[in-house]
Amino acid sequence: MTQGVVILGATGSIGASTLDVIERHPQRFHVEAVTAQTSVEALLDICARHRPKLAVIGDEGLAIALREGLRASGLPTEAAAGAAALAHAATLPGAPIVVAAIVGAAGLVPTLAAARAGKRLLLANKEAVVCAGALLTDAVRAGGATLLPVDSEHNAIHQCLAGARQLERDVRRLILTASGGPFRQQLDLSAVTPEQACAHPNWVMGRKISVDSATLMNKGLEVIEASRLFGFDAERIAVVVHPQSVIHSMVEFGDGSVVAQLGTPDMRTPIAYALGWPDRIESGSATLDFTQLGALSFEAPDLTRFPCLALAYRALQAGPAACIVLNAANEIAVEAFLERRLPFVAIAAVIEETLGRLAPAAPQSVDEVLAIDGAARRAAAQAAATLGIR
Ligand code: NAD
Ligand code: MG
Repeated sequence: MTQGVVILGATGSIGASTLDVIERHPQRFHVEAVTAQTSVEALLDICARHRPKLAVIGDEGLAIALREGLRASGLPTEAAAGAAALAHAATLPGAPIVVAAIVGAAGLVPTLAAARAGKRLLLANKEAVVCAGALLTDAVRAGGATLLPVDSEHNAIHQCLAGARQLERDVRRLILTASGGPFRQQLDLSAVTPEQACAHPNWVMGRKISVDSATLMNKGLEVIEASRLFGFDAERIAVVVHPQSVIHSMVEFGDGSVVAQLGTPDMRTPIAYALGWPDRIESGSATLDFTQLGALSFEAPDLTRFPCLALAYRALQAGPAACIVLNAANEIAVEAFLERRLPFVAIAAVIEETLGRLAPAAPQSVDEVLAIDGAARRAAAQAAATLGIR
């Protein structure tokens, strides 16, 4: 019998890589359900190829387009729409595996639903961990779920920690590698365009995470993600810029040993690791040819040109509510930048301004997380309008 997989955010970059790995293992996996927010055509293409039981479109206005598209293609796939249907897809009894690949805090509720339902949760949606923090890890424990990180750095750390018995005692620090993004060597960032920011040197990704990689906020979110997933304070999580993206992250143990995970930059590797775990399955990624690699280099991140990383450390130290504010303000600022309403260098300014304006208490429930997220989005939209391009 094959294992059913639900892919939340199937039409995105992680969704495509996941489908590619699944196709290599027809005797092991089948696609049970897929979701997207607005891309009906792309979702229909996936349904035609993988014939899932259920397809969900987040935008309810597109429900009819999805249903009619499925009918016109003669597919047996059932259609559903809206936020509740997204969360329902995450709990389908026919699928023990859920891939959380929605971008942004929008993925929080379905990701939590999968955790509560005791799924093997393949987590790419870092914003959900940044916002939910302990609520997510508690839901994983209460639901009897297994959380496997797909984000390449956290997946690397998961691999490096295999066999470590007592993290608090045995590990000195986690070392996250960062490519440095497209502007690592560019001094003047005042005229950066969305096209330039989305042209990542090593990875092809969705637009939001591409901009985050260019500001180094992606690494900032990942520092918070690592803290939540592995239980380390900010002081024990280091970031080093490694432009080749061959070492995906490292763990330094108490005896001075540093264990690293290496590979070609291809998200199918961490996805295959998480799908197959504890087995190792074929991912389709290229072999790392050491004789062609040349030098691996390392440098400290420049926090003056990339203040977003420093802001993320500050939010982690301030507490869970500040992390939600940071993430929400970043989502608003990145959207404004992509729509050419905000200069690249003002992204950090919008986040800093929003963090300064709001100081909510730590959330005790998902509703409180969503309330803080909403308030931060409103404050950030005001800040973006003030600092934006007229
Ligand atoms: P993407 O933009 O390519 O795809 C996003 C997916 O989420 C799409 O299927 C889209 O339909 C869906 N979506 C968007 N907004 C939604 C909403 N409001 N409600 C429901 N669904 C919505 O993004 P991506 O690059 O695949 O990234 C997905 C997640 O994985 C992000 O959190 C990102 O940080 C993380 N991640 C991505 C990569 C990568 O290489 N792309 C690497 C590590 C982590
Ligand atoms: Mg990453």
